[in-house]
Amino acid sequence: MDLRADLRCSLGMWVAAAWKLSAHAALFLCAGLFSLTGCKANSDQMNGGAAAGNPAAVSAAATNATQGGAEDAPSPQSTGGFDGKLAFEHVAKQVAFGPRPSGSQAIAQTQDYILTQLKSDGCTTEVDSFNADTPIGRLPMKNILVKITGDDSSIILLGTHYDTLLRKDITFVGADDSASSTAVMLELARLLCGNHGKHAVWIAFFDGEEAMKAWSETDSRYGSRQMAARMAGSGDISKIKAFLLADMVGSRSLHFAREESSTKSLVDLMWATAAKLGYSQIFVNTSSGAEDDHDSFLKRKVPSVDVIDFDREQDVPFWHTADDTLDKISPRSLAISGHVFLETVNELQKK
Ligand SMILES: [Zn+2]
Repeated sequence: MDLRADLRCSLGMWVAAAWKLSAHAALFLCAGLFSLTGCKANSDQMNGGAAAGNPAAVSAAATNATQGGAEDAPSPQSTGGFDGKLAFEHVAKQVAFGPRPSGSQAIAQTQDYILTQLKSDGCTTEVDSFNADTPIGRLPMKNILVKITGDDSSIILLGTHYDTLLRKDITFVGADDSASSTAVMLELARLLCGNHGKHAVWIAFFDGEEAMKAWSETDSRYGSRQMAARMAGSGDISKIKAFLLADMVGSRSLHFAREESSTKSLVDLMWATAAKLGYSQIFVNTSSGAEDDHDSFLKRKVPSVDVIDFDREQDVPFWHTADDTLDKISPRSLAISGHVFLETVNELQKK
């Protein structure tokens, strides 16, 4: 992903100039706008909404998650069957493979791990091996796609990238970016593969999201661009009702702002679902921008939402640093992220 927060800074400066505020006031305004994504906008969001399942337990889970408290995941019964402990184990396994940039030995181990897990959960999978031309040369990549059939041909697509940023100067294991979202998708696959709903559910594991040199239109999102192009060729792209992307979903002090380029109706649905479950203190009503794999589908007119905690001021100061390690991940946060994805799929199955 790449940042659009900087825009706010220049916006802040313009506002200050327009209001003839002093340079100091402008700086203060800038800092205020920047931190908005982290801190909660206002008090009524702090007290959470009514929960469909067990409001007390869920709200307690939500509160603990945001305070980075006890490491136990809430019981799967309170998170729709989603098991945060299992998801955490998937994070630990990936991190243990070490840095997993595209084309590396460790990413091949990760691919085997993902495929073995999916097979053991009875999932039908397709693998697309392709070569990507990157600024550091041609790299072999692999997209993995789970296909769960439905009564009709329309598709609810879920997705994550599973590669980690290539850094030669540090050991970057990407516990949050990208092991957390990969773990959430593996646990969702365990729950969904045995089911058969009104619509098909596909779960994509994208290779090559990270830039090899510097993020740009051509040096990023290799896997999701490849899959979107293939789906356009096969005609499947027009069957996708909704694309739900997860990225950086496991940090201890988890907060999701509304991603600005995402499809509003889908963001509204997901945020309303989170509020119904008692997580409105985590899925908050501030906004922030991120370039990510959802762009590959938005460009092809697919309704898409990126659920990403990209607040580098408060939640993920360790982004793209050697500090993105296992101790930064909370099983509780994984469970809450997974619960909202699961419940949103259920909501989409009713439409
Ligand atoms: Zn990422």
